[in-house]
Amino acid sequence: MLTAGIDIGSMSTKAVIFNGQSYYKAITPTGWSPRQAAELVFNDLLKQAGHSPDQIDFIVATGYGRISIDFADRVVTEITCHARGAAYLVPGTDLVIDIGGQDSKVIRINEQGQVLDFAMNDKCAAGTGRFLQVIAAALGVDVSELAALSAGKTPLTLNSMCTVFAESEVISLISQGKEKGEIIAGLHQSIARRITSMVQRMGALNRITFTGGVARNEGVRKSLEQQIGIPVLVPEDCQMAGAIGAALIAQDFCRK
Ligand code: ADP
Repeated sequence: MLTAGIDIGSMSTKAVIFNGQSYYKAITPTGWSPRQAAELVFNDLLKQAGHSPDQIDFIVATGYGRISIDFADRVVTEITCHARGAAYLVPGTDLVIDIGGQDSKVIRINEQGQVLDFAMNDKCAAGTGRFLQVIAAALGVDVSELAALSAGKTPLTLNSMCTVFAESEVISLISQGKEKGEIIAGLHQSIARRITSMVQRMGALNRITFTGGVARNEGVRKSLEQQIGIPVLVPEDCQMAGAIGAALIAQDFCRK
């Protein structure tokens, strides 16, 4: 059985083709048209995997742009897909922390990757990938450089978490001569603090898996681990977790 999962996020669109044992993956920026991004990434993936569209038995779409595509057989929420993807990538996970471009969530799951409980922040950009992008731009660096720049630095305390006010605060800290790395370490710490308060509401935990694009930032991972007090694991395909989960759920639909 060949199935596909497409995760149309606010920043990036991810797609996976799963054959029951292994998967092909592709990612592209979502840009202004979620529909175009989904078609582009899916066609790329088909080429890479050497399949034609009619060979794919079932397609599940997820992510904020999931309703904008017309070639999916089903749409499934991101929470369900991330949970399933994280349980596949890191067996034994009992809590998923997902930080994407426009929201952050913590999801308590069972061994099968089914959702037991969750908490989500999608009301404002604070503590999301978008927040980090805005601040990185204000500091003249790329998000992929944040972890290295902040490694080993003492975090500065930041008073603002609202993206707009935090950007002004960062600009003023720079003009006071504060060091970039210390400012970034402070940002990571404040994001981790918000997430930690969500995690603490989920009860006792053994294995935490961190997914979404922000999981690629080792500074945020470390800060989370320090504040939560147990290991926070990042699978190599952390950003693909939603698409992987969608492709796995598509396999379930095929078996029904
Ligand atoms: P969405 O699903 O909303 O499109 P993603 O899960 O793709 O979001 O995450 C996007 C975020 O991931 C970006 O806003 C950025 O902060 C972060 N990110 C992406 N690539 C990297 C990278 N190489 N290093 C660190 N952070 C990254």
